[in-house]
Amino acid sequence: MEDKMAFISLQSAADRLGVSVSYLRDMLDRTDRIQTVLDPDPSADFWTSTTSVIPERDIRTYEHMLARRRFVRFREKYADVLVDDVELTIRPGWKSLLERVAERLRWMPPAWNARLRKAREKSGYMTLGFEYDSGREDARNEIARLREEIRLSSLSLCEECGRNGRFRYSPSRSLALCDRHARLAAPTLPGDGEIADPASDGASINELPSA
Ligand SMILES: [Zn+2]
Repeated sequence: MEDKMAFISLQSAADRLGVSVSYLRDMLDRTDRIQTVLDPDPSADFWTSTTSVIPERDIRTYEHMLARRRFVRFREKYADVLVDDVELTIRPGWKSLLERVAERLRWMPPAWNARLRKAREKSGYMTLGFEYDSGREDARNEIARLREEIRLSSLSLCEECGRNGRFRYSPSRSLALCDRHARLAAPTLPGDGEIADPASDGASINELPSA
């Protein structure tokens, strides 16, 4: 039986995947796979080493992860309600929210011509851009409602893995994360755990005026 494992340098792996080494390192960290990276130099640091290697067979796993992060299947499935060059820069944990947006767009009156233009993360929550007939008041209202609904939902969903999470108040970057991924926003600032919604000036979500 062939039992020899082939290894490939992190740089070659990144080249084959079409991403930068720093992107690949970040992905390995976020998916808790740093321990699968080997280094012949025992003193090397994961973040800076030029000698680290990974099992070549892991490339397939990372291809799937990248497809998930780029929402490849989502783009195919919902092409009818997305603009051609739709910008999706959010993390994979918010995929269920994207699907909710796409399903809602499909149910809107065809006369509105409503399609998703972009989905971004902004200080811990999801912001959405749409193309639609903004001359119609009913369309404007419904789009505004959908935006706010998704924004609030995203604040309690880990952007990395989709588990229940909360807003993390951080000097480097505020994010919505579960307990397991809380480290991605570390260190947090005083007030972390008290601010549920950065857009509501410190008030809790329950204190927001209802739409
Ligand atoms: Zn998470």
